[in-house]
Amino acid sequence: MSPFEFIIQAISVSCPSCNEVFATQIPFKMSEMTATLPVEADLHRVLPYGAVRSCLVTICPQCQHSWWTNTFNRHYFLPVGIAITPDVDHPKKFAHAILTGRKNNFHLLDRALLALNGYWCAKESNQDTSKWLTLAIQELAIAINDSIWQNNRSRYQYVLAELLRLSGRFEQAITAFALVNNSANLPQELIDNQKNLASKKNSDPVLLTNKQVQQIFFPKLINELSNEEKEKQEVTQLTEKIQSDFSVANNNPFDSITNRSNLLPPKRPLKATV
Ligand SMILES: [Zn+2]
Repeated sequence: MSPFEFIIQAISVSCPSCNEVFATQIPFKMSEMTATLPVEADLHRVLPYGAVRSCLVTICPQCQHSWWTNTFNRHYFLPVGIAITPDVDHPKKFAHAILTGRKNNFHLLDRALLALNGYWCAKESNQDTSKWLTLAIQELAIAINDSIWQNNRSRYQYVLAELLRLSGRFEQAITAFALVNNSANLPQELIDNQKNLASKKNSDPVLLTNKQVQQIFFPKLINELSNEEKEKQEVTQLTEKIQSDFSVANNNPFDSITNRSNLLPPKRPLKATV
């Protein structure tokens, strides 16, 4: 399957907030992630159309509850002749979801991931991204400052640093890159390179090399490593076999390349405890 081919499918769901049954869309088929597909240095796979990424979020036509599509229950009705999810501009769906998240005090990390996806979706829809970039930085900084979650904080710190560089906030970016440590499990030369770009006041987006994509998204399993490599790596970082296909059809956006597989947020309660 070509990386430019996608099949979007209508499904029926019921709203977790008001129980309305309606039709929404999910990507039914996408090309699998490979090391040769374009991935930018802020760790997102470049998709050819904003329409694909926008399927991550669904809006209820009855009560406007907007959240990850996988949190809506599948319903047995055929998705024909029933209410349909509102036809909203692709990136704006993520703004609706952020509002729902704020209203319900949903987890800060979800809001940050929604803002990140809104930014990437705006890019993929050829729209102005400046407001999205500002929002993504704001939401990500809030999430990082919240101490109730643990995993991969350093990788999020790296993404925040890269977003600061992309937005031209170079001094802040350099400071943020300096806070990225080994637990981010990212190639040191990547971190050094992005920091170097920030010090040269370069805010251009950069694609990862195939080797970097391989290292980050297809890490070797522990039994594939030489003894020397084993010593260098922590077992916990290696036993995690990363599923890298972008598939909302598997009903879990956190397993998709847009968020969980590259950023690995922790398993967490829906609501923040603060
Ligand atoms: Zn609803």
